[in-house]
Amino acid sequence: MTEQGILYIVPTPIGNLDDITERAIKTLSEVAAIAAEDTRHTRKLMQHYGIQNEVFALHEHNEIHRADAVIERLQQGDSLALVSDAGTPLINDPGYVIVHRCREQGLKVIALPGACAVTVALSAAGLPTDRFAFEGFLPSKPQQRRAKLEALKTEQRTIVVYESPHRILHALADMDTVLGNERQVVLARELTKQFETYLRGSAAELLQILTDDTNQQRGEMVLLIAPLQPDTEASEGPGESAKRTLLLLLEELPLKKAAAMTAKIHDERKNLLYQWALENRDNE
Ligand code: SAM
Repeated sequence: MTEQGILYIVPTPIGNLDDITERAIKTLSEVAAIAAEDTRHTRKLMQHYGIQNEVFALHEHNEIHRADAVIERLQQGDSLALVSDAGTPLINDPGYVIVHRCREQGLKVIALPGACAVTVALSAAGLPTDRFAFEGFLPSKPQQRRAKLEALKTEQRTIVVYESPHRILHALADMDTVLGNERQVVLARELTKQFETYLRGSAAELLQILTDDTNQQRGEMVLLIAPLQPDTEASEGPGESAKRTLLLLLEELPLKKAAAMTAKIHDERKNLLYQWALENRDNE
């Protein structure tokens, strides 16, 4: 019986061309052929790394149609590599149909580790990383986007979404409306590239920065939303360490300022701290 081929999932750089592994280059050189989201784009990349190999198209419009031929080729013993235009295939990129079919057929799939905008953004954004929810792109239609944000409002994990420069102002405006002033948002832009930038603040603050400096609206971007802190919910009041900071600051500062500073230090809600201080400052 012929030995079956292996489907390799091979990440490619998301900007900086040095971000490819030796194993990725070796795999792309040694497989029988490369299935690429955009053959022209991948050929350029291959040229850069000195890789010569057969490339064929496998994108969202032909993935279902091509699946049988790809499966057949693997069954006949050819190993294949799957690449997308940038980053990790299947992460908001084509590949799911093929991998699902391979698993159904008992074919071996091996994923190589590598660049992915979600994990790069998450690693450096400064938001909790112990748990996170990746939501792909937010809907492009305003009503659906706001509904999606409403559904995510009480999420207690860090939320990661991809966003396009054409919609970033609308997305931030909707985040401001739905999530309010207290929720921290991070905009991670042009990751691994020359103008890599992380901006952090409320959605309204980020909106202001982007409106003042239109360069900040350009390029590729990931948005991250801080988790809703369970201990800052209205019913429970601020956390103990935030209360201690607030009381200390109140010895030197007016209430509004002390609450704002404490909110920043502890990632708490300003209004909640303000309210708590009004009710408790004389008792503590
Ligand atoms: N598969 C890719 C990955 O692993 O990240 C994602 C592909 S998805 C079609 C493209 C989106 O990923 C972009 O619109 C942007 O939101 C995000 N992205 C890709 N590269 C990026 C970069 N260098 N900086 C920031 N975001 C990036």
